[in-house]
Amino acid sequence: MARQHRTDEPLARKWFAKHGLTELVNDVVTRCPTKTIMLKETKDVAKGPKISSVAINDTQSLEIDNSNCVRCMHCINVMTGALATGTDQSVTVLMGASAH
Ligand code: SF4
Repeated sequence: MARQHRTDEPLARKWFAKHGLTELVNDVVTRCPTKTIMLKETKDVAKGPKISSVAINDTQSLEIDNSNCVRCMHCINVMTGALATGTDQSVTVLMGASAH
């Protein structure tokens, strides 16, 4: 079973309203190692079983082709809640710890 990103549109819109386009592009879209997360006009978003998408405002959406996602977790860590790992249990565990 493919591991699909889950998305939450209200949280995605809220994230975008708070952080804006510059941060979305510079910190999310361009940092995807496989360039599989894209900012698109909502009307141009691809459809299909391997595509996850979520609107960030009334005209634009993020599109993720899950078949190209290597589950680095970056986008999920930045847009926590708006993007989430799939519901199956094959989760990539990436832990960061800092000692204080
Ligand atoms: S988890 Fe990583 S590889 Fe997958 S879409 Fe997000 S940033 Fe790209």
